[in-house]
Amino acid sequence: MIVAIDGPAGSGKSTTARRVAERLGWLYLDTGAMYRAVGLAFRDRGLPFTDSAAKSLVPDLDVHLSPGPDRVHVALDGDDVTDRVRTPDAAEAASRASALGPVRDAMVALQRRVASDQPEGVGVVVEGRDIGTVVFPDAAVKFFLVADLDARAQRRLADFSGDGSDRDAEAFQTVRGELAARDARDQDRAISPLRAADDAVTLDTTALTIDQQVDLVLDAVRRAGGRSG
Ligand code: C5P
Repeated sequence: MIVAIDGPAGSGKSTTARRVAERLGWLYLDTGAMYRAVGLAFRDRGLPFTDSAAKSLVPDLDVHLSPGPDRVHVALDGDDVTDRVRTPDAAEAASRASALGPVRDAMVALQRRVASDQPEGVGVVVEGRDIGTVVFPDAAVKFFLVADLDARAQRRLADFSGDGSDRDAEAFQTVRGELAARDARDQDRAISPLRAADDAVTLDTTALTIDQQVDLVLDAVRRAGGRSG
């Protein structure tokens, strides 16, 4: 069974998807981490974000995700980039690289391969932007998470500072601006733009706790015939 969780940055996808996967003993697939790794490859090689650069880069790239106890480990051509993929620069590079057709084709193929490699009876909880619309349009469960921009910026800031102690106004405005720019780019691109699938359940997480989000997704999995953990 595939559980698709899409939505903009900071909407609660990652934490929800990871916890749902943990509860079910299923695989958690963070497709944003893949695009972040590809974005870093463009940066490291000084390549412009163009289709022709993507065509020459992508066939040689080796992006590998491995689940860890607390977070997904990411390797790019054998190098551990787990920390680097979480930087604002990697997010920006991901959003530029992910608008390119050759990058999307390769990552979608990789995502489908990872899912089909799972043993019988092990589902996959996949988070991203185009999972319910393009990658797995037949997913049994589809959610589209949204939240107010301010709430998403606060969450992202808390991710960076760990305890949320240095939430000064300037940092907040910077993070908020970066999120808004990334959302606009993800929504407006020609290929696989960020949008809810027609059959996705849209969930506004602004005032929800993570536990509530996880329970709603687990309920939907149960109703779709998957185990409920
Ligand atoms: O989810 P995360 O913030 O890690 O994603 C980083 C960027 O990767 C997004 O802003 C988006 O541009 C791109 N992305 C995408 N399709 C996905 C997942 C991520 O285009 N399925």
